[in-house]
Amino acid sequence: MNSVPGPYDATRERLADLMADQPAYRVGQVWRGLHVNARRPAEMTELPPLLRKRLDSSLPPALQPISESVSDKGETVKWLFALQDGARVETVLMHYRDRTTVCVSSQAGCAMRCSFCATGQAGFTRHLSAGEIVEQVVAAIRQAKAHPTGERRVSNVVFMGMGEPLANYDRLWPAIVRLHDDIGISARHLTVSTVGVVPGIRRLATEKLPVNLAVSLHAANDRLRESLVPLNKRYPLSVLTEACRSYVAAKGRRLSFEWALIDGVNDRAEDAAELAAIAVPLAAHVNLIPLNPTPGYAVVGSSPGRVRQFRDGLTDLGVKATIRRNRGSDIDAACGQLAARA
Ligand code: SAH
Repeated sequence: MNSVPGPYDATRERLADLMADQPAYRVGQVWRGLHVNARRPAEMTELPPLLRKRLDSSLPPALQPISESVSDKGETVKWLFALQDGARVETVLMHYRDRTTVCVSSQAGCAMRCSFCATGQAGFTRHLSAGEIVEQVVAAIRQAKAHPTGERRVSNVVFMGMGEPLANYDRLWPAIVRLHDDIGISARHLTVSTVGVVPGIRRLATEKLPVNLAVSLHAANDRLRESLVPLNKRYPLSVLTEACRSYVAAKGRRLSFEWALIDGVNDRAEDAAELAAIAVPLAAHVNLIPLNPTPGYAVVGSSPGRVRQFRDGLTDLGVKATIRRNRGSDIDAACGQLAARA
């Protein structure tokens, strides 16, 4: 792992140690500078210059941007970051009319091996630390502040980048607490997306903060789901949907299902019927997105016409479904395309 913990892996105690010769209020000042103002120590002009310098060298950023790609007329930005040990992750910032969302990675790579996902095709490198997760959001906050048409505030964080967040629970949850308590993002604007790690969903249901849960379903019968999402062998649909039901009962949050529409695979009328049979009793919202192309998967995404037809089929069956606009596909920043190529 990291040799030097980055600024967002430092605890208040570590900051206090670094500032043992300073008045006690400095710790809170630096903490707010890092979290509320998203500033680097070098930018904290309220601090004496020597202290600024010391903190800047003791708390170097954990993420180094390797590249920054912009699309959708500046409304989508993707970064490729190198971590201190050379592992790489991607982060995507998306501005919408009514919100600004950061899509963060929870692991470098992913061990889940979903056939159609570029991250899964590349395999697992390592878990991210809580600070490495938080710092992705901070990088996006800094960028959003400098938006060309005026400052934007990051309102939403979705754990839909690289990795399976619930397979890295022990670092995910402290990161969520930081984002909520110190950066000020409300629980209802934090969304954890999982391929169906049932013990993680159960654990999430015991937490104090009621974050949103999104489940990447993609298939509503075990045979098809196993072929797309290998984890379904371990946690089949009956077990997964029961965990979803408990989560909704415990948290009172709306559940959502992600469904990447794959031509001729999961976009037929019978697929819509199977999905409705699961979604209706859970009052789940379905997010539809045509499959984005990835190098390791030959089947293509459904055509816009078939996507609308599938949506209409769901609506007729009483399911609330939204077609997601595909952001950043021209910069390989769209869902499932994050592969951290240099
Ligand atoms: N591991 C978590 C977090 C990743 S989120 C999860 O699976 O939920 C990324 C989302 O993009 C998931 O819903 C995933 O299934 C979806 N996805 C993966 N590959 C895709 C592709 N090629 N096209 C569209 N969506 C894809």
